[in-house]
Amino acid sequence: MKLTFHGAASTVTGSRTLLESSGKKILIDAGLFQGPKDLRMRNWVTSFKASTLDGVILTHAHIDHSGYLPRLVREGFNKPIWCSQATATLCRFMLLDSAKLQVEDADFANRSGYSNHRPAEPLYTEKDVERTLRLFQIVEDEEWFSISKSLQFRFFRAGHILGSRFVQLAYPTENGSETILFSGDLGNGRSKLIKPPQSPPQSDTVVLESTYGDRLLPREKNLDEFADIINTTSRRGGVIVIPAFAVGRAQEVLQAIAQMQREELIDKIPVYLDSPMALEATRAHLKYTDEIAFHPEDQWMNHPIDTDMFRALNGFEESIALTQSNQPHIVISASGMVTGGRVMHHLKKRLPDALNAVIFVGFQAQGTKGQLLQSGEKDFRIHHEKVDVLASIHTLQQFSAHADWQDSLDWIKQMPAPPHRIILNHGEKGSLEALRLKIIESFPGVEVTVPEHLSEVNL
Ligand SMILES: [Zn+2]
Repeated sequence: MKLTFHGAASTVTGSRTLLESSGKKILIDAGLFQGPKDLRMRNWVTSFKASTLDGVILTHAHIDHSGYLPRLVREGFNKPIWCSQATATLCRFMLLDSAKLQVEDADFANRSGYSNHRPAEPLYTEKDVERTLRLFQIVEDEEWFSISKSLQFRFFRAGHILGSRFVQLAYPTENGSETILFSGDLGNGRSKLIKPPQSPPQSDTVVLESTYGDRLLPREKNLDEFADIINTTSRRGGVIVIPAFAVGRAQEVLQAIAQMQREELIDKIPVYLDSPMALEATRAHLKYTDEIAFHPEDQWMNHPIDTDMFRALNGFEESIALTQSNQPHIVISASGMVTGGRVMHHLKKRLPDALNAVIFVGFQAQGTKGQLLQSGEKDFRIHHEKVDVLASIHTLQQFSAHADWQDSLDWIKQMPAPPHRIILNHGEKGSLEALRLKIIESFPGVEVTVPEHLSEVNL
């Protein structure tokens, strides 16, 4: 059995791990690289032949795990994509939206002459996405699914976002068989929205995500800081912009705002959800109620979309019109790492005014505009124009959908015995190294590997 790390090695995007065993080639996740240009350029080079794959196991719908699927199909892949029902639903609109962005980017490059290709081509189009969606095959939780006689896998709830799963594979060895567990993106069990991760079954090898391998997140959701930023900003007449991932984070933030309004922690100001994708995702959260952690006090789950509390903006014009408003309000918009989408024009308008505030609620990958804002970058640009950053910039860690190092160790400890080896991926260098040291300390004798981009691990 051989693993090759075609993405998410020493970085957090572009999740693609190739597994080769008993004559089969299976890809675990097919994500887009995001962030700095040298990473994004990797989306144009497929480091293996797409048409030789026998299938893709998809852990969840986030674009850095699913956004490469239509490109694979464009390059000749036509085998099953196995995932949960909710993941398939989310992927439908997320991949269509991603295709739209790819086409827009290519058009923009052609108009402005930015591309090295002439004419610039989109990575994929809506047509490729339609063909991709036909390959989705739903796999039920906890039941072994046979790829071949000797290669099987099963899904477990990962508690990261709606539909997210971790996956255990059983593959043949000389003396019988072994198991490998891919954590995918792992939740931390503190979401008020979705159910916690399931306990991991005993496995020989674990491929563990390391996004927050160097961090401890707050254990309690303390809404005081959130409320304080909202009140301070609105009382001075400012606007609060919250860049949020459309799936998961946007709903968690809506839920928290609803709670703060109910408990009268914040003043009544208008709250806008300005992301068609977040609206679709909110609807999906209502549909797959068996994944939702119900809290009877959170009434909004019954009417999340057009209540008195939130207004979902429809067209692009409504979105632009909101940037002209001088009334204090909260706007939740995507993308969460400020890599594109409607949040760009809200920020362009609000950043140059010290009355306003921006609140980050999710992980900001190196080189993204979100991370530049967080780090206090002075030379900040949107759509190639310099934008002065005078608004206050805040980060709330409590909405994170990832496990921190303690959560990850606790999760592994739920196995009856530690695995033989742990392979760390999906993290930036500092996080990987910190988590590696923690594992060595907690599980003496366990072999820990940190693969580089395109490196191979033979098991
Ligand atoms: Zn994710």
